[in-house]
Amino acid sequence: MGKVLVLNASYEPLNITSWRRAVVLLLKEKAEQVEHNGRILKSSFPLPTVIRLRQYVQVPYKEIPLTRRNVLHRDGHTCQYCGSKEDLTIDHVVPRSKGGEDAWENVTTACVRCNIKKGNRTPKEAAMPLTTMPRRPHSSLHFEITKHLRGGINEEWRKYVIGMS
Ligand SMILES: [Zn+2]
Repeated sequence: MGKVLVLNASYEPLNITSWRRAVVLLLKEKAEQVEHNGRILKSSFPLPTVIRLRQYVQVPYKEIPLTRRNVLHRDGHTCQYCGSKEDLTIDHVVPRSKGGEDAWENVTTACVRCNIKKGNRTPKEAAMPLTTMPRRPHSSLHFEITKHLRGGINEEWRKYVIGMS
């Protein structure tokens, strides 16, 4: 069964949890049901898809690991030079040989062809402008939610997430 989006008391998304944990929160009256998928768990208890905590909780910032998979996800699995979705690699915008770092702001998704064409140059030197300037993803939750939404599941979460494409 599916995952449940947990909203803070302020209606901001807080985390993603299992339906079991969500049901426990509802039964303990720590949360209220916001959306359900119409499936009945037992005796008129619909299975939740979005719940909201009754008490506001403070959220610590969580670092997102800089991995190939996460960079591809951030960039929508699209070459940031030509828009290709095939043969994707990770490109250092400022090449490592020129002091470019392993950092969110300096890595981008590039297809093999663009990566080879760009070679050991900056985008400016290679006259290959980036379609999007690489940035650090602003929250790990936002990141997780977009993965779910891009997978075509939990569409009903979308309205609780601001600025999500
Ligand atoms: Zn390309």
